[in-house]
Amino acid sequence: MTVRWQADNESDLLVAAQCLQNGQLVAFPTETVYGLGANALDDHAAKAIYQAKGRPSDNPLIVHIYDQKQLDLLTSVIPPKAQSLMERFWPGPLTLILPKSSAVPLCVSGGLATVAVRMPNHPTALKLLALADLPIAAPSANTSGRPSPTSAEHVWHDLSGKIAGIIDGGETSIGLESTVVDMTAAVPVILRPGAITKEQLESVIGTVAFCSGDDNQPKAPGMKYKHYAPKAEVRIAGQNEYEAAQTITAALADDSVTIGLMISEETLSLLPLLPATVPVQIIGSRQKLNDIARHLFAALRYFDDTTAEVIYTEAFPNEGIGRAVANRLNKAAAQVSNSDNEVKKI
Ligand code: AMP
Ligand code: MG
Repeated sequence: MTVRWQADNESDLLVAAQCLQNGQLVAFPTETVYGLGANALDDHAAKAIYQAKGRPSDNPLIVHIYDQKQLDLLTSVIPPKAQSLMERFWPGPLTLILPKSSAVPLCVSGGLATVAVRMPNHPTALKLLALADLPIAAPSANTSGRPSPTSAEHVWHDLSGKIAGIIDGGETSIGLESTVVDMTAAVPVILRPGAITKEQLESVIGTVAFCSGDDNQPKAPGMKYKHYAPKAEVRIAGQNEYEAAQTITAALADDSVTIGLMISEETLSLLPLLPATVPVQIIGSRQKLNDIARHLFAALRYFDDTTAEVIYTEAFPNEGIGRAVANRLNKAAAQVSNSDNEVKKI
C-alpha cells in the first residue's frame, strides 16, 4: 500500500526518510518535477526504481544531495568549472555529470563511468535528503514515457501500489526537469535544456555546447526513448499564434478526428467560438514562458481523460526556458531527435 504524507508534517518526513534508509521508494516534490527516490548507494533499492517506473535499465538516474560534502561519496574529481556552477546555481534546477566513484552502483549510472548529481531547491526535498542523510537517486516519479509529474496526484495516478509513499508538497514551481550538463568534456555540453539557460551557464564558465542531434548515437542514454507522451497524438500546429490558429480552424471544420487544444491565450483569441465538446487547456501567455513551462505536463495529462485523439498545440519562442519547452513538446510530438530544438511544422 502506498502512504500519502504531507510536506509540512515533520513526523511524516521522518517516516519517509526512514523508508529511504530501509531501501524503499519515496516520491517527493522538487522545484522541477516530483522525483521517485531511493538510496543511490544501494543497488537493490535503485533497481526497484526502474521496476516501478518501467524504465529501461540503460537510462541513468540523477542523484540528489543536500550538501556538497556528499559529493565525496559519489565522485573523486570535481572539475573547477563544475565547482563554479555549483556555487552559482545550487541548490537549483541544474544537474552536473561528473566521473563516478566505485560506490555508485552501475545501475544508477545506466552502466556509464559517470554520475549525474543535483541539489534541488525545494525545502521539503532538502529536509528529506538531510533526514535520510543519503545520496538519493531520483528520476521523475512517472511511469516511463508519460509526462513528468508536477503534482502528488500525477504520481498517485502512475505509481500508487508500487512505492512506499508520496510526500504531497503541492504543485511544482518550474514544472520541467533540470538542465543536464556534462562536465566531463573539455567544453561542457548541455544534454537536456531546462530552466538554467545556456546563457546563464556561459556567464559563469564561458563556452558551453549543445548536444548535437543524432538519434542513432545518443550522447546520454535515455535520450533515445519516447518521452512525455499522452495517449493522444500531439501535433504542433504552427510556429506562432497566427499559424496555429489557421491550422486549428481548419482542423475544427474537419469532423473525422476528435481534437483537443493545448494553446496560448493569444492563439485562443484568434480562434472562432469553440464547440463545448472540444477539450481545451490554455497554458498561459506567449509573453510568459515560465507559465507555459509550469502548466505543460499537467495539461498533457489532462487529455488522457478526454475523447481527444489528436492534441493541437503551438511552438513557443525558442529563448530562455522556451528552449526547454520546445525540447519537451518535440519529444511529446516525437517529431524530431531529442536534442534538436527546432520545432518542425506539420
Ligand atoms: P529523469 O531523472 O527522468 O529526469 O532522467 C534523467 C536524465 O538525466 C536521463 O534520461 C539522462 O538523459 C540524464 N543522465 C543521468 N545520468 C547521466 C549520465 N551519467 N550521463 C549522461 N546523462 C545522464
Ligand atoms: Mg523522466
